Amino acid sequence: MRYRKLSLRRRWRKAFRKYGALVAQSVGGHPFLAGIAGTVVATAMASLTFLTLYDGRADALRHAHETSENLVSLISSDLARNVEIYDLSLQSMVDNAQNPATWHLSPALRQAVLFDRATTAAYLGGAYVLGIDGLPRASQNSDRNPVVPLSDRDYFVVQQRNPSVGLFVSHPYRSRWRGGNPSIGLTRRINAPDGSFAGVAMLAIRLEYFQHLLDRINTGTFGSVFIVLDDGTLLARKPFVESDVGTSIAKSPTFTTMAARAEGSYIASSAVDGVRRMFTYARVHNTPLIAVVAPSLDDVLAEWRRRSLIAGGLTLALGAVFVVLSWLLAFTLQDKVAAQAELIRLAATDPLTGLSNRRVLDRRLDEEWLRARRHGSPMSVLFVDIDHFKQFNDTYGHAAGDEVLTAVAECIASAVRRPVDLVARYGGEEFAVVLPDTPAEGATSVAEKIRKKVQGMSLFYGQSGHSSVTVSVGCATCVPAQGANASGLMAAADAQLYAAKSAGRNRVSAEV
Ligand code: GH3
Ligand code: MG
Ligand code: MG
Repeated sequence: MRYRKLSLRRRWRKAFRKYGALVAQSVGGHPFLAGIAGTVVATAMASLTFLTLYDGRADALRHAHETSENLVSLISSDLARNVEIYDLSLQSMVDNAQNPATWHLSPALRQAVLFDRATTAAYLGGAYVLGIDGLPRASQNSDRNPVVPLSDRDYFVVQQRNPSVGLFVSHPYRSRWRGGNPSIGLTRRINAPDGSFAGVAMLAIRLEYFQHLLDRINTGTFGSVFIVLDDGTLLARKPFVESDVGTSIAKSPTFTTMAARAEGSYIASSAVDGVRRMFTYARVHNTPLIAVVAPSLDDVLAEWRRRSLIAGGLTLALGAVFVVLSWLLAFTLQDKVAAQAELIRLAATDPLTGLSNRRVLDRRLDEEWLRARRHGSPMSVLFVDIDHFKQFNDTYGHAAGDEVLTAVAECIASAVRRPVDLVARYGGEEFAVVLPDTPAEGATSVAEKIRKKVQGMSLFYGQSGHSSVTVSVGCATCVPAQGANASGLMAAADAQLYAAKSAGRNRVSAEV
């Protein structure tokens, strides 16, 4: 079992190494491609993250909108229910005030009949039946005896002028009878039996009611919530600023939208304090009241911003690291592949002359031998040897000898032109040339060309008896046959070289 596990691991490691090398090879060849691929992947991942984060922003706004809608609905229903209760009291006051019998009752009984229901209403500042002159004919608190007429108040004038107003909600005012208490008046018209104006039934509602309603709502650090009349008059607002109450926001560019529609939502800068908020509003049913909940965008998006900053920052940092690493990897691989290629080149090259070395020669000889045998084509080899080179070395030293070797190598390489031909240093001052698909005549002419070129270099020996560096060349050609091999051909060329030397050097000898 243990053995199987080990062998499996080894197999995996082998596969990884194999495919890793392949990847390294291809990536190393195109380092920009690898860097660009890394950059594209990092950019794609970053884009995905930012898209998700942007989605999160829309989610945060949607969630805030839903919460605001719920709050607006809560405030509206509270307002609608209370206004309905106030209105029931008003209607009862009107009914009783229009009944002549009421006015024949004793003051105590009349008060009980007129204001019976009104006393139960919350935040009630006062309940009055006003006469035609605006003075109270009856008051919920009989102990108070107000003498200032209210005939100039909007709630009185409106009812006086128009018999079909129904329930009227007034602008905020400071009470003349109750020590300046800020209130709004809810009124209904009292008619005489002939339908003419006979007075007004009035409930004064303390503005505290609205303020207390709003105080229960959490608006965040910079949010606001307010109740406004449909002409833009502010009744209550949280955060509470006393001087704001009664002022008009009708001039705010967004108020027209709010007044025109029963409900809606928009984002705008506040007309009161300039903070950018998400306004969600709804008209309170059967009243001129509008309830508005407006959390600030900074509050709504604070948590999303915090999360985005962390996630976005991390994504950018990791993406940058990924990009840098992929470029580093690409360039490292490129260096590695280049180093490998150089090693391979060096392993195949003779360091002094830059020609192929003996190892490459042996391999190519075998390959070309097999190819020529397959095609039935002739193949030639040349053996080139510098004449009296020992003597040259002994006279001028090995450094000069090396220079001659290099010069002769260049001569041979320049004489051999076809891309399939191979020039190699065989060893010492001997060179071999493989000429695939070349008959004896061709080989002899190449050999002759080499000999002449070397001689033409005119490298003088100086004091020695020989005028210049020369080479002797042995040529061998054959059409490879079954049973024979390339070393036989090389041996034949070597024999021809020996013949050339024996015949006096600086000459070409070929098999006949
Ligand atoms: P021959 O005309 O019969 O070929 O005479 P030769 O002196 O060239 O032949 P031999 O094989 O006796 O001598 C070869 C000499 O080549 C021996 C050595 O001095 C020289 N030689 C071999 N390899 C190198 C080399 O890498 N550098 C240098 N400078 N000389 C070398
Ligand atoms: Mg030799
Ligand atoms: Mg020699």
